[in-house]
Amino acid sequence: MKRFWRWLIALVFIALATIAYKMLWASPTPIAGAFNIDLQAARGLVTDGAGPVEVRAIKVAEASAPFGAMVAGKSLFTQKSLIILAYQLVYADGSAVMIDSAHDLSLHQRSFAPDGAGFDQDAFDRMQQGLRAADLILVTHEHLDHLGGIAQSPYLAELAPKAWLTRAQLTGPTLSHVQFKPGDLERFAPVDLSAPTSPAPGVVVIPAPGHSTGSQLIYVRRADGHEFLFVGDIAWHADAIRHSTGRPHVVSHYMLQEDRQVVANQLLALQPLLAKDELTLIVAHDDAQCRDLLERGLVVEGLKLP
Ligand SMILES: [Zn+2]
Repeated sequence: MKRFWRWLIALVFIALATIAYKMLWASPTPIAGAFNIDLQAARGLVTDGAGPVEVRAIKVAEASAPFGAMVAGKSLFTQKSLIILAYQLVYADGSAVMIDSAHDLSLHQRSFAPDGAGFDQDAFDRMQQGLRAADLILVTHEHLDHLGGIAQSPYLAELAPKAWLTRAQLTGPTLSHVQFKPGDLERFAPVDLSAPTSPAPGVVVIPAPGHSTGSQLIYVRRADGHEFLFVGDIAWHADAIRHSTGRPHVVSHYMLQEDRQVVANQLLALQPLLAKDELTLIVAHDDAQCRDLLERGLVVEGLKLP
């Protein structure tokens, strides 16, 4: 009888360990070549010297998450900062394109910190001025920490005509989290995006559904030729690209409802770009990477406002 209990305990332990491994540690094996980033097509769509002269950024909010929730297999006991920014591409003539819009205090309280900790209202207000002054607004994807600053903007009616949002972004299954007010979604004219497309000089949007249905890569070639690739939330941390390892199943599947295999394939496609450093990858929420880009002067802190 003693032996029976020993076996039962061992079996329960193995079952629990297997579930924990699948939910928290495992990540799909990426398939080489399954996702192709057509940089040649992107490069062919931009004109030399026509791009922005500066890439700028403003941090609107900050939160933290276990490293193991960002990259499967990493420590669940190590907290990593998760920054929420908006970017501004500034052209020589003073015109500007904004990429992403963070979120407002109400969405921050709902999704990150009920007491509002980590939210910078002054930065949010400055970002709103940046959005108002921009000629065009893009988002890497339709999640609340990228689109929420438009959805909850006091100037939504003013911003909607210049927001270049795709049909996939405006109809995504997680769009309800962004909490558009009734009637506001109808103010946007959706763009049908199925191939790399240039909405502004030096800028090309490349569809990359997976993390969300409206996820896209945004390629930017600065006027001096330096290239950037905004990868949105395909990765939350550059290590996910370095090791082609996505978020754990419990985050990826249950919280985000992303296509895990497609994201793994995209991470693998991004890996050589990060390793070669021939173009600058911008991982939306990676604090350490952002600090490095600011130090190297590749991204300039703060927005240029009129
Ligand atoms: Zn995000």
